[in-house]
Amino acid sequence: MSVEGDWTTFLSERLDDIRRRGLFRDPPRLTGTQGRHVQRPEGRVLNFSSNDYLGLASHPAVVDAARLELDRGAAGAGSSRLVSGTFEAHERLEATVASLKGCEAAVSFSSGYAAATGCIPALCGPGDVVLLDKLSHACLVDAARLSGATIRVFPHNDLSVLENRLKWASQRHPRGRILIVAESVYSMDGDCCPLDGIIALKERHGAWLFLDEAHALGVIGPRGMGLAAACGLGDRVEIQMGTLGKAAGAHGATIAGSRHLRDLLVNSARSLIFSTAPPPHVAAAAAAGLEIIASPEGEHLRLKLRERIAEFARLIGETARHIPIFPVLLGCEKRTVACSAGLLADGLWVPAIRFPSVARGSARLRVTLTAVHEPADIVRLAEALRRLDGKLPEGNVVRLADNPSR
Ligand SMILES: *Cc1c(COP(=O)(O)O)cnc(C)c1O
Repeated sequence: MSVEGDWTTFLSERLDDIRRRGLFRDPPRLTGTQGRHVQRPEGRVLNFSSNDYLGLASHPAVVDAARLELDRGAAGAGSSRLVSGTFEAHERLEATVASLKGCEAAVSFSSGYAAATGCIPALCGPGDVVLLDKLSHACLVDAARLSGATIRVFPHNDLSVLENRLKWASQRHPRGRILIVAESVYSMDGDCCPLDGIIALKERHGAWLFLDEAHALGVIGPRGMGLAAACGLGDRVEIQMGTLGKAAGAHGATIAGSRHLRDLLVNSARSLIFSTAPPPHVAAAAAAGLEIIASPEGEHLRLKLRERIAEFARLIGETARHIPIFPVLLGCEKRTVACSAGLLADGLWVPAIRFPSVARGSARLRVTLTAVHEPADIVRLAEALRRLDGKLPEGNVVRLADNPSR
């Protein structure tokens, strides 16, 4: 067979395998902007797919902040900050994060993925131990692998196993460092980590904590500053990661902590050193997003978001909560895709989340609510889900009222 033939066969076999398992994706083409609605090829649909929890991705002040930079002619950063320097927009963004988080310093990265994969290997290496929650985001898993440290996974939010792992780590690697990695709000399940318990354990065992606040920033805590702030424990978390592409409505991420942490990352995080800095207009947009999050307008948007969450929880028979992520666990990949398509035909865009985003066999619809949804949107969604419930085969119903994943 020709080399060309080999190559094409290889690709089509891989793709066929992905299709067979119900895991093939061909992301729809969107026109217009992120918001209450999105314009898909099928037409305009209500958007329950986005992490733009406060609607800031199309907020005029965020757009204007980017435009101001662009109008000055600043489209690209030109190089890595270590080569070309730090723009005022990056500095402003980092000062904003540090001040809002009550930390000494912050450093920005081009994405959450880059922040994690830059930061964790800069802190840990062979001879150290990284303890990961079972449901950790892929970028945290990849970062831990990249570090070369010994990795131990603990069952989701299980403090007693975490304590056993900590004991094991300090005996097995008496000279090594131990880093616990957890998320404030788990992205595909919508539950929070037991932060006070984790902090008590890490202090008892001399470990450090990397807290990924991706889905908490903007959504919970005083001035929307996340779970560490909500618990009043910010000064006891060594490394606080926040992403700027979710509630902040822009793009990028920051790591906040001590001045030394910032300096160390600037000097050793490979994703910062060997990658072009985020464009200044993106940093400016993110800073504007954060300023709204922390403002009375942000407070008002969170209040609206909480009203939508409470109404939806009531309609589907769930207990009250503060997190706008609602997984509807279905298990089967193909059925989940069919349900998502059924909702789309009703004008509702609720994505089917499958492996590798979640474990095989734990596929789910993932509903995200935002502050820009109207009360009627929530009712429409709850009714459509209920209709879906009735149509599923016996024994495989969408268990809306007692979701097994929580
Ligand atoms: C989205 C997400 C990230 C990655 O952030 P990006 O800026 O999108 O790369 C990291 N952690 C969690 C928990 C996330 O949900």
